[in-house]
Amino acid sequence: MEEKILVDYPKCPWCGHNQTLTQKAWLELHGNDEKKDMFVSFNKMVAVLTDTPPQFGVTLPTAPGLLVHQDFCAKCGRLWTTRAELKNLPTGMQIQSGPQPGGTFHPQR
Ligand SMILES: [Zn+2]
Repeated sequence: MEEKILVDYPKCPWCGHNQTLTQKAWLELHGNDEKKDMFVSFNKMVAVLTDTPPQFGVTLPTAPGLLVHQDFCAKCGRLWTTRAELKNLPTGMQIQSGPQPGGTFHPQR
């Protein structure tokens, strides 16, 4: 599956400001280096979009999913959804832990 940005919401829907608190903090840290234009967000929520139930013992490294970013407006402080992406998400959380065929299971990845 091709990963892509589904929707961008670059401006606060409440006041129209275009900077989030996380972007502001990120610029404080990286305003003078090559990372300054990276997309950053405060909160990330994921939902795996598959109708196939997880099968224990079967290695399913990723599944298509929705990744939603939220952040706080740097001007008015309200929370808004800043981006939605289609992503291949790791399904490790859904698979029973323990030795997996072909290698060691690393739940933190
Ligand atoms: Zn705002």
